[in-house]
Amino acid sequence: MSAAARRGAAMTARRARAVISRLLEHYGTPAPALAFGDRYQLAVAVSLSAQTTDRQVNEVTPILFERYPDFERLSRARISDVERIVKSTGFFRNKAKNIVGMARAVVDEFGGALPGTREALMRLPGIGRKSANVILSIGFGVPAFAVDTHILRIANRIGFIESDDPDAVEAAVTALVPERDWTAAHLVLITHGRSLCDARRPRCAECPVRSLCEYGSTPR
Ligand code: SF4
Repeated sequence: MSAAARRGAAMTARRARAVISRLLEHYGTPAPALAFGDRYQLAVAVSLSAQTTDRQVNEVTPILFERYPDFERLSRARISDVERIVKSTGFFRNKAKNIVGMARAVVDEFGGALPGTREALMRLPGIGRKSANVILSIGFGVPAFAVDTHILRIANRIGFIESDDPDAVEAAVTALVPERDWTAAHLVLITHGRSLCDARRPRCAECPVRSLCEYGSTPR
């Protein structure tokens, strides 16, 4: 890498750290929006959260967890019973099949305890890389950075990277932000996406990172 490229990369890393630190100052460190009490509940809630809001998931999980309080109980559930409970989260047939399948795999292959590696998590039904990263970082305290639709959009607008590939965005942000800040960065970027950096109408005039953002500082 040339000296100029190294200087450019260092500036980008500085800018990335400044973005995260300003957002954390602005919003505080957000708590995860999904309600859960243990790793079982986290894994199920994350699996149900695809294509719906966390609020919608939080409405059905108390009923689900009361009826099926652990992987063992969920592994023995009738899928049609689970479908009825999770129906309002959308794609309920797939989601019910996936969470019961996940419970069966955790019981059969891991003795009922959720595994704590990305590779093992991604072998479970319904768990892709994003979900595995959320479970690792929030449930296990293992450094991981999950890229959702908000983070994908904001990373491109700010100029961390130009890509619509979540894996590339994950690689870019984790190269720029120190490992200890990955979980906080994930949570605060999602909060920012839900608050000011809206998909259709970003409120750049009110944004605390406007001066650091390529989109926000470009006259239009
Ligand atoms: S300046 Fe606008 S586009 Fe940039 S992060 Fe803020 S709200 Fe989003």
